[in-house]
This record gives sequence, C-alpha cells and structure tokens, in this order.
Amino acid sequence: MTIETWDAVKGEIEKSVGANNFAAWIKPLEFQSCDDRTLALNSPTDFIGRWVVQHFADVILRHAGEAGVDATRLICSAQMPGTKPRILTGDTDLSPAQKARAKPRPVDGLDPRFTFETFVVGKSNELAHAAAKRVATGAAVTFNPLFLHGGVGLGKTHLMQAIAWELRQRRPDCSVLFLSAEQFMYRFVQALRDHNTMSFKAMFRSVDVLLVDDMQFIAGKDSTQEEFFHTYNALVDNGKQVVLSADRSPAEISDVSERITSRLQSSLVIDLHPADYELRLGIMQHRYAQYRDMQPDFVLAEGVLEFLAARVSQSIRVLEGAITRLFHYWELIRRPIHTEQVGEVLTDLLRASGRKLTIDEIMKKTCEHYNLRMSDMTSARRTRSVARPRQMAMYLAKKLTPRSYPEIGRKFGGKDHTTVLYAVRKIEELMRTDSQLAEDAQLLQRKLEG
Ligand code: ADP
Ligand code: MG
Repeated sequence: MTIETWDAVKGEIEKSVGANNFAAWIKPLEFQSCDDRTLALNSPTDFIGRWVVQHFADVILRHAGEAGVDATRLICSAQMPGTKPRILTGDTDLSPAQKARAKPRPVDGLDPRFTFETFVVGKSNELAHAAAKRVATGAAVTFNPLFLHGGVGLGKTHLMQAIAWELRQRRPDCSVLFLSAEQFMYRFVQALRDHNTMSFKAMFRSVDVLLVDDMQFIAGKDSTQEEFFHTYNALVDNGKQVVLSADRSPAEISDVSERITSRLQSSLVIDLHPADYELRLGIMQHRYAQYRDMQPDFVLAEGVLEFLAARVSQSIRVLEGAITRLFHYWELIRRPIHTEQVGEVLTDLLRASGRKLTIDEIMKKTCEHYNLRMSDMTSARRTRSVARPRQMAMYLAKKLTPRSYPEIGRKFGGKDHTTVLYAVRKIEELMRTDSQLAEDAQLLQRKLEG
C-alpha cells in the first residue's frame, strides 16, 4: 500500500460513512505502514485513533481489501515522537556473511498507548508488572523466559508492549521483536512458501529480546510449534530474553507437545488476576483524567466512577469501553453525567450478565449478614445495631445500583434523601478506620455481585 492508494481508499470510505463522519474521523488519518496484514494509520490524537478502530475498522479494512491491500487488523494512533520501535521482518534474503550481522529493519507495530506510564498497578497485576519492569531494564537476564498469563483484557499485551517501548528507550542498541504467535506462524509459513527458512531462522535468532503474545494460538499447529521451540531454545541458550504471554498457563495449553510445555513450565510463570475493585477504580480515574485533559468540561457526577468500578465486568477492556461510551454520550448532551444515566447508557455492560441488582436483594443480603429482619431496614429505629446495617445497605444500594438518593430513601421506608446521603458518607468514613466494617462491606459486595 502506498500513500496514493490510501487516498483512493479514503475516497471510497467517504461514500460509505457519509460526509460528516468522514470529515470528523477519516479525513485526518494518514497512512503509516502496512505489514503483516496490519494496516497502521496515524491520527491527530490517540482518542481519534481509538474511536476510529472501534467504529470504522471494518469499513476501512474492507475498502483497503478492495484496493488490494491484504490487512486484517487496523491500528490507529497518534505517533509517539522519536520512538519508532524496531520490529524485524523476515523478508530479506541474507548471505551467510550478512546473516552474522543481520540488522533488523524498523517496522512500526507497537501501540503507543501501551506503555508503563499508562499502566495502573494494583494487587491483581503487581507481580506481573514488577517482572515486566525488571525485564524492561535490559539488565542481565534473570528469569528466562517470563511467561505471563491471564484472561482476556487483563493487560498482557499492554505489559508486553510496555517492555518493548521501554527497552527501545533505554537500550536503543538492542533489537527487540514483539509479535503475536499468529504473526510468528504467518511469517514462518511465508518463509516455507518462499523457500526462505534460512533467513527466517537467522532473523529470529538475531534478536536480543523476543516477545511473543498469545501463545495459545500455536496449539495444534505442529510445525509452527516445532519451529518456535527451536527459536526459543536458540535464544535462551544464548542468554537472550524471551517473554511470552497466553490466556492460560503453560500446563493448560493443550495440543502443544509435552517437550515444549515442560520447558515452558520451568519459566517464571506469573498470572494476571481479574482486576479487583480498587484497580478498576484506579484505571477509571486514570482514564477519566485523560479525557478531562482533552475536554475539561467532561464531568461525571460524584459516585459515577465508583459505580462503574463496582458494576462493570472485570475485564479492563470492557471497563475502558464503558468510559469511552460515556464520553461520547457527554459529547451529545454536554451536561454532567449522573449514575442514573449511566444505568441507561451502559445497560448492556453492567455486570452480572445483564442481571440487575435490586435494592431489595441488597436489603435482604444485608439482613442475613447481620441477622436482622427485613422490617428493620424500613423502620425508623435508631439503635446502632439496626441503624448501622441499614446505613450499610444504603451505602451498597448507592454503590451497586444506578438508583438516586431519593429513590433509595423511598425504598428504605420513605426516608429523606439526606438520610441516605449521610449514610453513604458515614459508611465511607468508617471504612477507613473500622476494619471490621470495611470487611463486612467487601464481603457483602462480593456476595451480591457473585
Ligand atoms: P490482554 O492482552 O490481556 O487481553 P490488553 O493488554 O489488550 O489485554 O488490555 C486491554 C485493555 O485494557 C487495553 O486497552 C489496556 O491498555 C487496558 N489495560 C489493561 N490493564 C491495564 C492497567 N493495569 N492499567 C491501564 N490500562 C490497562
Ligand atoms: Mg492481548
């Protein structure tokens, strides 16, 4: 693909998406590269890039395909100044002498958003983060390979690319190759087809740090596995760093030869856990701050981030989708967004597979926990042993449902909204000093979300 082809493709896209969309999103995009079936475009801001990938990837790839561009993936972001990652390609035909000093050709393939600066650390990912940081210093190899695994959207790709970015900055002399296991296979197959396996091998063996993402992909693909295994052994035996990721642990990847899995199990295997509430909140705050840097008028009412962190699924990708959607909603209404609206805008993303948590359920579980009767929840009794659990239930209702203060007040026997507000503040305050109460709150929340 060339810049001219891209201009032509743009013209076609305009017909599909209409003039307004075109002017807002597509027109500013510049062609950057097309490698490994990945079309990379530059956008004026990362935000535009993200929006384009989310909403226009299909259209863009379809029209690019019609123009003869073989790409199945679109990346689109603002370019990070001065830091082009050096990614190797296997298409050079090398003589033995050249092989010895095989120099990688730079190709862009890293997402500029995936750096350590943008990675929020919490309990569920701190080990993985620490190990990644360690590898990224480029110091002597201590654990080799590093194997990161965990469910979808928990930050594996982000961490792997953060390592690549950081190494690029700290050790520009060092050749770093990041690619997915799928790309590895694709290049291998291409090398086989072109009778070019020698240069394929030479190229992969010349890297200093190899990062392969989504290793589960090689399950059942015997010759790719075999080739990967040789590459892997050659690198590790030469003291080069290898970092791998997968959606499950080495032992759980089936259809991979015993020889490989047993070797992988001797690596440093670290799993990323689903993000807990604190991490989810941390990430939301981070994202919110980023949006507000761009649009200082973007305001989420108090409690919205907490609500999202409590109710949106454990995948960080979904969490990010949630705040992005709120931002676009805000662009339409240009007013602060309240929890009640969040409930409407994000119904499909709210957790418990569409099941909506009701205030009744919250009252019921709280009563069970504290051994009270439902009538205690709606009564006006002020005894601490009743009042405190009632406040807890109000707090949970505010946190876990999109109901407003007055609505919650009504549910609790027609109390004033200020009573609810007071209860929420009180519990929040107590949680900081009273560890038993904090534990109760967490336990109840887990039960309710369970
Ligand atoms: P995985 O590869 O594990 O499926 P990704 O690395 O692609 O997940 O992460 C999904 C999204 O969530 C990305 O946009 C990533 O930037 C974001 N993300 C994941 N973990 C974090 C974190 N700890 N801090 C900030 N963003 C995160
Ligand atoms: Mg990934």
